[in-house]
Amino acid sequence: MPQDLLPEALTRDLALANRILYDQGVVDAMGHASVRHPEHPELFLLSANRAPGLVRRRDIYCYRQDGSPVDTEGPRPYLERFIHAEIYRSRPDVQAVVHSHSPNVIPFACTHTALRPLFHMSGFLGSGSAHFDIRDEAGDTDMLIRNSTLGRSLASALGAQSCVLMRGHGSTVVGDSLPQAIYRAIYTEINARLQLAASGLGEAQFLNQTEARLASEANDTQIPRSWALWVQRLGATDVDE
Ligand code: MN
Repeated sequence: MPQDLLPEALTRDLALANRILYDQGVVDAMGHASVRHPEHPELFLLSANRAPGLVRRRDIYCYRQDGSPVDTEGPRPYLERFIHAEIYRSRPDVQAVVHSHSPNVIPFACTHTALRPLFHMSGFLGSGSAHFDIRDEAGDTDMLIRNSTLGRSLASALGAQSCVLMRGHGSTVVGDSLPQAIYRAIYTEINARLQLAASGLGEAQFLNQTEARLASEANDTQIPRSWALWVQRLGATDVDE
């Protein structure tokens, strides 16, 4: 598939989504966001190997669910593209995926402590985060999801949930749209920060499952408002260059 057949508006939104994740402190030079191809659901769009804060439309390529790039002449892909590939394969409902190493999530990942919705903005956390330990699957590794087998294990740990924490590494969130996945990545990090703060004060009362569901449904109607603000904060960008 030539690059000029990529859906233009969605490719631009994905480039902006990468910039937003950097601007909001969810990613640094590492981490990535992807979106399922709207006309070819067996494919997904992901930047080639580049810091998210620098991603432009022309850095975005199509990948298959085995992690192979459709354009074999393209630049070097991300090592961890198998995270995205295997989640799209196992979760037909998922339209977008964000993988990050956002810092406040790490203490929860390494203690297998569930992230739970501390306030309405993180209602999508429902009854708690899923957890994945690469050592259980592959023994001692460099912690990276470098192949389809590890990607499948991670997707299996995610199950039907929206957020999986990865011991010694970071987290991955999914959404039914690109803005929803970005929203969830941002508020996973914020909820982790707040949950750490609350843990020093006493026993936290989390949203129960009904509250979490109702809050999540209400928030989803407001995501365009957040998206507009996130894009505005970026100011002028070179995403189209
Ligand atoms: Mn990673």
